Amino acid sequence: MKNYSKIIDTLYQNKIQYKIDENLSKHTSIKIGGKAKIFVEVKTEKELVFLLKYLSLIDTKYHILGNGTNTLACDDDFEEVVICTKALKWYKVSGDTSKNLFSIYIQSGMGLFELNKKLRTLGLGGLEFSYGIPGSVGGAVCMNAGAYGKCIGDFVEYVKIFDGERVLKISKKNMLFSYRQSLVQNSNLVVLGVKLNLQKSDSKDIEFLQKQYFQKRLDSQPYDKLSFGSCFKRYEGKEPISKLIDDLGLKGYRIGDAEISKKHAGFIINIGSATCQDVRLLIKYIQEKIFEHYGFVPEPEVKFLGE
Ligand SMILES: Cc1cc2nc3c(=O)[nH]c(=O)nc-3n(C[C@H](O)[C@H](O)[C@H](O)COP(=O)(O)OP(=O)(O)OC[C@H]3O[C@@H](n4cnc5c(N)ncnc54)[C@H](O)[C@@H]3O)c2cc1C
Repeated sequence: MKNYSKIIDTLYQNKIQYKIDENLSKHTSIKIGGKAKIFVEVKTEKELVFLLKYLSLIDTKYHILGNGTNTLACDDDFEEVVICTKALKWYKVSGDTSKNLFSIYIQSGMGLFELNKKLRTLGLGGLEFSYGIPGSVGGAVCMNAGAYGKCIGDFVEYVKIFDGERVLKISKKNMLFSYRQSLVQNSNLVVLGVKLNLQKSDSKDIEFLQKQYFQKRLDSQPYDKLSFGSCFKRYEGKEPISKLIDDLGLKGYRIGDAEISKKHAGFIINIGSATCQDVRLLIKYIQEKIFEHYGFVPEPEVKFLGE
């Protein structure tokens, strides 16, 4: 890895904790991935910004990881610095009680489960649809995560971002949210936090909705299996990709230990010791079959870490 010793020295001198050769399979929901040469779970926003500035100064690549629930990490060792945001969980509520409008600013590492539990206690409604999406707030903003006709982008006031040099607040409009898409995706922008606009609501009603949405998931998805959620994005003007895969009779089809879920054909699951190579071959196989029968190639929703 380029600048390896320099980076280790800087981390050590600045008392930033790091791990060497950390198994990425421990940090992805599908439990696949080789080792990251340097893995840093940043403890504060200041630490994150310092590290990002430093790495860009010495022209060294990095990869941001939230909860790793939409990530397929390569089997080989990964030569970039992996920065995990999981520990960044600070939040602050502000509101205009007279208008019944409230906002919450949340740092990027908080998980959507934890956020939803807090919103329930605070009596802030709107985000119930996201109860059960296992990602972090930063990952959700990057992916514009959504379900049941709603997505996180709908609730954003602004996103606090680091662009390599400066910390900026980007308004909802300028975040260019669309279906599983945002300004942040495939860029060098890093989400530090997000301000969401929500409404005062009864905690019991919030809990009821959260449970309802969660049950829908349990009923339709292989939620107890190792996966990264839906493998492919919806293709405009076509039926859901999972339906097309199902119609082709591919449920249960396996390459190595990677299997097209028998419960939901849009999910690829790791049934034991699947490798990234198994999953990639299975994705390619599905793409070829869909192209052969329907004339288009579905685009993966999952993000690849490494080759
Ligand atoms: C069982 C299951 C069900 C799921 N259901 C849904 C669903 O209903 N709807 C849905 O949309 N998704 C769903 N997902 C997918 C996934 O949970 C979401 O995409 C989630 O938002 C990813 O968040 P994460 O923190 O895990 O992202 P990661 O996997 O860690 O990262 C995903 C991408 O976001 C980037 N990223 C992460 N944090 C930041 C940051 N702070 N700044 C910049 N970039 C960042 C990463 O670099 C990567 O490109 C599901 C996944 C599973 C396993």
